[in-house]
Amino acid sequence: MVITFHGVRGSTATPGPFTVKYGGNTSCVHIELDNGDDLVLDAGTGIRMLGKKLAQKSTPVNILLSHGHWDHIQGYPFFDPIYQPDRDIHVYISLQSGRKLLSTLFSQMDGTHFPVRAEDLPSNNFPKFRGIESELYEREGIHVVKQPLNHPGGGVAFRINENGATCAYVTDNELDPPGKPATNYDQWVNYLHGVDV
Ligand SMILES: [Zn+2]
Repeated sequence: MVITFHGVRGSTATPGPFTVKYGGNTSCVHIELDNGDDLVLDAGTGIRMLGKKLAQKSTPVNILLSHGHWDHIQGYPFFDPIYQPDRDIHVYISLQSGRKLLSTLFSQMDGTHFPVRAEDLPSNNFPKFRGIESELYEREGIHVVKQPLNHPGGGVAFRINENGATCAYVTDNELDPPGKPATNYDQWVNYLHGVDV
């Protein structure tokens, strides 16, 4: 499992001398699994440069969206693989986030906000909804288990396990939210127990 951070900023992209070290792009993490699968966590502006790399391949791209806030989806129109004819793009969305998240992702490509319309893309964009079961993405030897975030508008965290190596992606979460938490402190401790990264 190889993890590369392509975007680590929240709210908006922040280029400039103060963000050179960790970069100024919004949320996007690439996980290359040992079996060759590419997992892309969120589609903030960091996904643009990742797209240049993944455009060299022809295998399916698996995008897991944590939630629909703009800084997690705004890079999608600039992701090169979506312009590759017949490239398979699987977009994994928790039903806790709902179809609204999918429409948010694609409505930014409606011809008004962006010149290319989603329905004109030559790639195959497959939404993959996952309901109340805990696994969001699963293949032999790979398990991605989700957990609800404490965040306005909701969202999910991901715990990714492949052959005993485990990482977790818990973004935008409040440990002590003002209202009733979707996941309380003890549940987070349990969910993240034993994670390597
Ligand atoms: Zn957010």
